Amino acid sequence: QAKRTRRGSTLIYSDDMKGEQERRLMIGQFLKQAIKAGEFALAFQPVVAASLDSIDAHETLLRWNNRVLGPVSPDEFIPIAEETGEIVTIGAYVLDEALRQYAASGLAARAGKLAINLSLLQIVTPGLTEQVRAALARHRISAHKLVLEVTESIFDDRNSSLINTVLTGLHKDGIEIHLDDFGTGYSSLSRLHEMPITALKIDKSFVQKGDAQATAIIEGSVLIARQFGIRVIAEGVETLEQAQSLQAIGVDALQGYLFSRPVPGFQETVTVNPQEQLAAG
Ligand code: C2E
Ligand code: MG
Ligand code: MG
Ligand code: MG
Repeated sequence: QAKRTRRGSTLIYSDDMKGEQERRLMIGQFLKQAIKAGEFALAFQPVVAASLDSIDAHETLLRWNNRVLGPVSPDEFIPIAEETGEIVTIGAYVLDEALRQYAASGLAARAGKLAINLSLLQIVTPGLTEQVRAALARHRISAHKLVLEVTESIFDDRNSSLINTVLTGLHKDGIEIHLDDFGTGYSSLSRLHEMPITALKIDKSFVQKGDAQATAIIEGSVLIARQFGIRVIAEGVETLEQAQSLQAIGVDALQGYLFSRPVPGFQETVTVNPQEQLAAG
């Protein structure tokens, strides 16, 4: 119960805080039942070669429609699942279900690789490597078809030697490790060699700003990534102008609404989406 104070703004502020905290607690509780309740669904978004002639991969993006709250964005519920630890169970579900759908689609060859986002807690929780190997074997998918996306938080963690061991083991199996949201976190280009990273995904904020500074950051990342033998992917590509600029810079692959929103199922071909082009630009 918010206490009445002489300053009205304090009252409103504490009410907001309470509402926000209550929603977080509710989300945390509902997440525990979400798998059993069948409230999760997977969406997939293609990653297109910069030449635009093939699909490099499909990224798995989790969707949640709760019976009380309705659709909740992963930007809201993933951090809560990480806090409560539920992400370990949810992550195992996503891994198995994404591989199941990928295998069942019969499109594995033409749909490129399958990318899955991993949270830091999944990496530092014992058993990830065995879990990944078992899921690949269960669905008869080669390790070379799998991409695991990690964030720059892997560099900031006091468990970085454990993280390195886990990622190196997965990479030796043939799995690609991509560094997601590159440029927003703590890592610097000079630390890339510390982890077995096979590609950088430039964060969409740099792609969408489009000013001289953002462009310089993308250009610099491409030059240095090349020295390390690392590929570069740009996310959040919404307009033809953005795509053309990224192609000119030498980015290897593009992902964004220009080609497709995240949707159920896998695509065999992608075409530039004229509606997005109009809407965005
Ligand atoms: P992310 O991995 O960086 O995924 C990219 C996000 O950008 C997705 O948001 C995607 O829908 C959105 N996006 C793609 N193209 C465009 C574009 O052209 N314009 C704009 N404005 N946005 C675009 P989404 O699906 O809401 O997911 C948000 C974040 O939640 C993901 O960011 C990822 O960090 C996390 N996430 C989603 N699914 C999972 C999962 O299964 N496990 C874990 N650990 N995290 C997940
Ligand atoms: Mg991602
Ligand atoms: Mg990303
Ligand atoms: Mg992101």
